[in-house]
Amino acid sequence: MARFIFITGGVVSSLGKGLMAASLAALLQARGYRVRIRKFDPYLNVDPGTMSPYQHGEVYVTDDGAETDLDLGHYERFTGVAARQSDNVTSGRIYQQIIQRERRGDYLGATVQVIPHVTDAIKAFAKDETDDLDFVLCEIGGTVGDIESLPFIEAIRQLKNEVGRGNAISIHVTLVPFIAAAGELKTKPTQHSVRELAALGVQPDVLVCRCEHPLPASERAKIALFCNVPESAVIPALDAKSIYAVPLQYHAEGLDSEVLRAFGIVPSSAPDLSRWSEIVDRLTNPEGEVTVGVVGKYVGLQDAYKSLNEALVHGGIANRVKVNIRWIDAELFEGDDAEIAAHLEPCHAILVPGAFGERGAEGKIASVRFAREREIPYFGICFGMQMACIEGARDLGGIANASSTEFGPTDEPVVGLITEWMGRDGLEKREASGDLGGTMRLGAYEATLGGNSRVAAIYGDTTISERHRHRWEVNTAYRDVLEKGGLVFSGMSPDGTLPEIVERPDHPWFVGVQFHPELKSKPFDPHPLFTSFIEAAVRQSRLV
Ligand code: GLN
Repeated sequence: MARFIFITGGVVSSLGKGLMAASLAALLQARGYRVRIRKFDPYLNVDPGTMSPYQHGEVYVTDDGAETDLDLGHYERFTGVAARQSDNVTSGRIYQQIIQRERRGDYLGATVQVIPHVTDAIKAFAKDETDDLDFVLCEIGGTVGDIESLPFIEAIRQLKNEVGRGNAISIHVTLVPFIAAAGELKTKPTQHSVRELAALGVQPDVLVCRCEHPLPASERAKIALFCNVPESAVIPALDAKSIYAVPLQYHAEGLDSEVLRAFGIVPSSAPDLSRWSEIVDRLTNPEGEVTVGVVGKYVGLQDAYKSLNEALVHGGIANRVKVNIRWIDAELFEGDDAEIAAHLEPCHAILVPGAFGERGAEGKIASVRFAREREIPYFGICFGMQMACIEGARDLGGIANASSTEFGPTDEPVVGLITEWMGRDGLEKREASGDLGGTMRLGAYEATLGGNSRVAAIYGDTTISERHRHRWEVNTAYRDVLEKGGLVFSGMSPDGTLPEIVERPDHPWFVGVQFHPELKSKPFDPHPLFTSFIEAAVRQSRLV
């Protein structure tokens, strides 16, 4: 049976619980254990798919087409274990399921209640498909004390009891703030937070204490005394220079051996962390640097482009260069060539990422034109591919009012709404006026690449599988016009109906993809498109 590790957070949010979970899983994996990480989100949305990136950061899409919390991206990047729909559940999804059952009559006669119905559903989710695992790490979103998280804490309490001592532990991540005026680290918030958790029946086994200064032995002892844990189970967590140094840092502080000890497992030999040391070495000792301009919409909040940011870093790791990302608001550009040049001239490569809605679209189209005309490497992802096609149609195909139906009715729908396509389980159909939640083309789809294309050379293959999240597609009715303008359709869906990749063979590096390659990139296995894009940026940096 798999062992459970429950992870909660206290005092404040944004303590890096997700990174802690991902790092711990990576450390256990390096010791030869099979792991999976799950996220419980206490909010009432069924999934984050309909939330604004400003509210929730990026929506991370899994192979099986789930729209999930961005922490699942960390989990996958750190462990290489592909996340699934069953790894992320929200209160909304649990209530949706329970209410559907209630209406069907499944509970006939019973009063449906938080305990046991909601807590049973939470426990079932934690235990689902875990037979082949050694450890399941379950991270609870939010902060202990929130009303929304109560059923989740209660489910942990019950589950710890059911599976018995030695089969489940709990880790609480807290903050030990530094009060400058007193020149001291303060343990009281941690004490209060642990008391709050204990009052709900969950005694943490390990405490992870985020702090900006090293935690003196005296403070560690104080936390242990007041919070009822061994001193060795108080793990200090200082800020790291890079997120990829976090597993090494936690290992140095004894997190993985302490977790094993809490399960009564005597740690065997040291884990093999050489791949993490190699990544950190490449990040800290780069042999050059490049600047990539990302022309987007949600540039004020980097969490909105979490996976993209990481994939660019991975491309840097692969090429041993530092990647400086210039986040540029596409709206700055509308109709102002001098503004465009001022922002984009310092960039060795330009990327237009995924987006929804018309705002900023003209600025993105102008950025495509700038990259094409100046022969600067261009990477268009999803919306960025669609804008590359609109630019090609307008500027080289003579279709001045080329547009996307996403922006409203148009006579020249170079990008159009899809209502039918071949899904993983047969034909998928949508109504133009249907629900917005969970109805895009989502998850992994195969594409067939042209044998002589640049992308086939980059992938080293002509069949690929990548993750999608979009409602509109480049309209193949315009394929001839676009190809006459030099934009080659080098990747198509296997049935030949949906464009997956376009590229310009006459340009140093110009690729647009309808999918999201950033979701599959890992620090120890950088995505080939990002490796190649950064390589092109390095070449560009030598020209200027
Ligand atoms: N808004 C576009 C669509 O739905 C692009 C989506 C995206 O970039 N992820 O097709």
